[in-house]
Amino acid sequence: MTSDAAPRPLPLPDSPELVSLISEAETRAVYRVLYEAGETPLTMAEVRERVAVLTGKANLQLDRRLRSLRTYFRVPAERNPGRPQRFTYALRGWQPDADQRTARKSIRASDRALTFHTYGNRCAACGRTPKDDHVKLVIDHKVPLELGGTNDPENLQPLCEEDNHAKQALFADHEENSEALRNSLGLPDVHLRIGELLKAMAGQDVPRELIALVAREENHGDPTKRLRELRALGWKIRNSKRKEGRRSLSFYRLERSEPWPPGGPKSAIAALERARKRARRMKVEEAERSAGTAEEGV
Ligand SMILES: [Zn+2]
Repeated sequence: MTSDAAPRPLPLPDSPELVSLISEAETRAVYRVLYEAGETPLTMAEVRERVAVLTGKANLQLDRRLRSLRTYFRVPAERNPGRPQRFTYALRGWQPDADQRTARKSIRASDRALTFHTYGNRCAACGRTPKDDHVKLVIDHKVPLELGGTNDPENLQPLCEEDNHAKQALFADHEENSEALRNSLGLPDVHLRIGELLKAMAGQDVPRELIALVAREENHGDPTKRLRELRALGWKIRNSKRKEGRRSLSFYRLERSEPWPPGGPKSAIAALERARKRARRMKVEEAERSAGTAEEGV
């Protein structure tokens, strides 16, 4: 049954190798539980129970933790003949492409240093620093490796652990949209990238962070402006906001899209902008003219 298992041995729980792959302690606790169970498959309830003993936490978003583990390890959901009504889980080895993934994960020390320096040792999301705010900074890939991002310095930024976890959680929540994200990221124009993502995720609340990610603009760009430009092309995009702890989250939901203009969105938006300016100028001229006529009448 395990004849296709990779010969590479699995890392020990909490070994430096595992820590370098899985930064979240709770996810490593799930790994430990599965590792220690060995060939004995566990139900989700059993995993939950054992993880709770290890971490003292009862509710750990196990689905998300499992998805993180599956970046590197095979943890298939299996039907167990002894308990056919339930799925069971066991650690079945490395993912076939884990070697590539672990290699790609390593960032050169000089690029790491350069990234901290470029951002003035601040979290790129909240601006907090280790010195003043006692946060720990980690290196984040702006476009995640899983979505085709690279280890190039332009794709790196420091994030505090809190923002890094929030970002990981965001992508875990949107794993079913990774295909849409990958496709959008490959498009040549910022409006196409945002618009096609909204279309692929139509009917869902798309977090602003995902829009900013596919926008791929320098200095965070201005997704709000791009969305305004799409609206000018006739798109209906509804914005909503929610508070979550100290974060205020912003979402966009596509309600109606328009076909892309034949010459591409950029030139259509530029033409609209020119028409708007011309109309404004004419209005000013007309006001001046009627003011002039009024004076003549005096
Ligand atoms: Zn931060």
